[in-house]
Amino acid sequence: MTDSILKMEDVSFSYHNLNGETTALQNLTFSVKRGEFLAIVGPSGCGKSTILSLLAGLLAPEEGGITFYGKDGKKPGIGYMLQHDHLFEWRSIWKNVTLGLEIQHRLTPENKRKVREMLQDYGLEGFVDKKPSELSGGMRQRAALIRTLALEPDILLLDEPFSALDYQTRLTVSADIARIIRSAQKTVILITHDLSEAVSLSDRVLVLTGRPAHVKAEFSIHLTLPDDSLLAARKAPEYTEYFNQIWEELSNENN
Ligand code: ADP
Repeated sequence: MTDSILKMEDVSFSYHNLNGETTALQNLTFSVKRGEFLAIVGPSGCGKSTILSLLAGLLAPEEGGITFYGKDGKKPGIGYMLQHDHLFEWRSIWKNVTLGLEIQHRLTPENKRKVREMLQDYGLEGFVDKKPSELSGGMRQRAALIRTLALEPDILLLDEPFSALDYQTRLTVSADIARIIRSAQKTVILITHDLSEAVSLSDRVLVLTGRPAHVKAEFSIHLTLPDDSLLAARKAPEYTEYFNQIWEELSNENN
């Protein structure tokens, strides 16, 4: 599949500790296309975060394989954004967003210029000298995204990145961040327990079974939108139908 950027094939993974073995994933197979926005939903504890840890290379599959199809045969760069922004309070916003570049010795004038541009695009240019605690939750999440995007990853792994935000902020920030990511033409894998978020932001939704997770169903999402405003996605005529179908798959799984 040449337009795939990654493929997980028959992947199984168990955690082993003193209390025994927990099989998190069993024969999990799916692929993601370059530039695609994939949302993954499933019952709590079914193995969603484990999938991201495997893709990020923090864990290795026990069985099966993960193949990446990078440009020029190189492995695509991977950025990982978590529920908590993990901004460092003792560093200014500028020092936070450039942290990854600093660690990788890539804080070149060109990369600094790109970061400044992003700060401007995302409305944070006036906050570069502030400390994280002086910013709202939504602004902090934008700063965390800039820090991730500064490293120019090809694939973004998002693990419930909006769940710590209040509902109102979450609606705007998630739509905003999805717009930013789309315009940067990144491939995204979003884990969320919020079905509205999954349907309104993604191109495709994978529904996982309970642990050990494998793919139960998948839905390609096509919403008729009046413009490119993702906030309007929830008003699209097809939205409720997708939401109900996914909800049904998930509630069968929870029973
Ligand atoms: P999800 O993200 O879907 O909530 P996780 O991938 O975090 O699920 O976890 C899948 C299962 O593996 C859960 O039952 C969890 O308790 C277990 N698990 C996760 N991490 C560990 C670990 N480090 N050691 C043992 N079990 C773990």
